[in-house]
Amino acid sequence: MREEIESIVGASAVDERPVHDLWPHGIMEGRAGKPRNRVLVARPVERAHLSTLLQLAGANGFNVIPMGGATGVCGAVSPSIGELVLDMGGFDHIIEVDETNLICRCEAGVNGMTLEQHLNQRGLTLGHYPSSLPGTTVGGLIATRSSGQESSRYGNIEDMVLALGVVLPDGTYAAPRPGLRSAVGPALHQLWVGAEGGLGIVVEAVLRVHRLPEATIGNGYAFPDLASGLECMRAVMQAGIRPQLMRLYDAEDTTFNGYDLGAGECLLVIATAGLADVAKAEAAAVKKFAGDAKDLGDAPWERWRRHRFDLSADLLKAFLEPANTFLDVIEVAGTWTVLSELHTRVKTAIGVGPLALCHFSHAYEQGCCAYFTFGGSSETEDGARAAYEQAWEGTMSAALDLGATISHHHGVGRARARWVADEMGGWVWVWRAVKEGIDPEGIMNPNSIGGVP
Ligand SMILES: Cc1cc2nc3c(=O)[nH]c(=O)nc-3n(C[C@H](O)[C@H](O)[C@H](O)COP(=O)(O)OP(=O)(O)OC[C@H]3O[C@@H](n4cnc5c(N)ncnc54)[C@H](O)[C@@H]3O)c2cc1C
Repeated sequence: MREEIESIVGASAVDERPVHDLWPHGIMEGRAGKPRNRVLVARPVERAHLSTLLQLAGANGFNVIPMGGATGVCGAVSPSIGELVLDMGGFDHIIEVDETNLICRCEAGVNGMTLEQHLNQRGLTLGHYPSSLPGTTVGGLIATRSSGQESSRYGNIEDMVLALGVVLPDGTYAAPRPGLRSAVGPALHQLWVGAEGGLGIVVEAVLRVHRLPEATIGNGYAFPDLASGLECMRAVMQAGIRPQLMRLYDAEDTTFNGYDLGAGECLLVIATAGLADVAKAEAAAVKKFAGDAKDLGDAPWERWRRHRFDLSADLLKAFLEPANTFLDVIEVAGTWTVLSELHTRVKTAIGVGPLALCHFSHAYEQGCCAYFTFGGSSETEDGARAAYEQAWEGTMSAALDLGATISHHHGVGRARARWVADEMGGWVWVWRAVKEGIDPEGIMNPNSIGGVP
């Protein structure tokens, strides 16, 4: 098979090696001695390569896993022996930035930070800032249905995608459709936003971009408890303010971030942005909504900005390097009325080690994402894995019981596969029909939502 793949992309664009994303469970398994699979990795550079490779896979019955920056945290890039990984890094052209209509066209392998910097140089922004941005690709950001630090202002990736060019599993190409929006049937391209490589390969994206704000005003507030901080966030969103950043840390996460506030106090970092007068007026409104919370000035915002990309892959790997340690993050989301209970229940579930933190960000008028971090160590690898599994089980059950989603933005991969049917309910049949209709041979990434259920 290698020879046939080489004949399509060239011998120098194929190698054999272990590849995997940053799923902590996978890292823990590797550390405990489970060998990483060596698989063929091809680096196509033309759309025709993708079509021919997918046709080859269909004819020979092997699976294909598209790979961007491999920064995913759910094990969607964790191939089994015999599966072919497609490194999308060769599709790295920013095709056009239309500065009048604020539309950008680019290929799927473009690095997320490279694209953002390219736009910034023109006074523009995509407004999509996952903490992992420097390691990501546009295709990966789309395929995982990702969300960035400024989502309360700019929305999530699905709000930015105007159209997609996709190579379908049979090798045919569905080109980006015209228009800002169309009533010619459902927005079918949205099926690929979150499909985790399970429905084909995204090769091109047409993205909505924005002008950089004239001014940004950031501030910190200390709330006496979590409930009052959440109430402030709700008031801000429901007043129609779209803060560039709004992040509330629970008391433990506040302390973990190095803030020596009063016992139980929770830090809110918030920034308003836009025309200078608007940003100023909105900052004044936020202060009113913050009520009696302590005004900490702009230092927390400045500090947050300096450290916004500190949570890196290297840090994650370094924490998980010593034997018997465990660490992960789980992001769920629910309406304002369930968030306090969700927080209480998940904090109990993840209290399997000394590190059990939560912050709230990615807010909507209806609710918010709750992002939990947990970690610790055990005396054995089995003990570490048992604690890790316990935290995940408890968190997923709490979310499902309370009608919250089990994932706000990291996706499914291998990590959440067994809970998907519980969340989807009757939509499982719809998803199955989509998958079977588009990928009848089942060649596309089985280690993802594409392999479920
Ligand atoms: C430190 C750290 C911080 C993070 N912070 C955030 C955050 O703030 N917000 C957030 O949303 N996520 C975050 N993530 C998760 C991760 O970075 C995102 O899921 C990101 O979108 C993955 O992009 P990638 O290019 O690395 O994709 P990969 O990991 O390579 O792939 C992810 C999935 O997309 C599929 N895929 C990749 N390219 C294509 C393509 N061209 N066509 C079809 N399918 C494709 C793969 O098959 C796989 O299923 C974080 C991860 C880390 C390690």
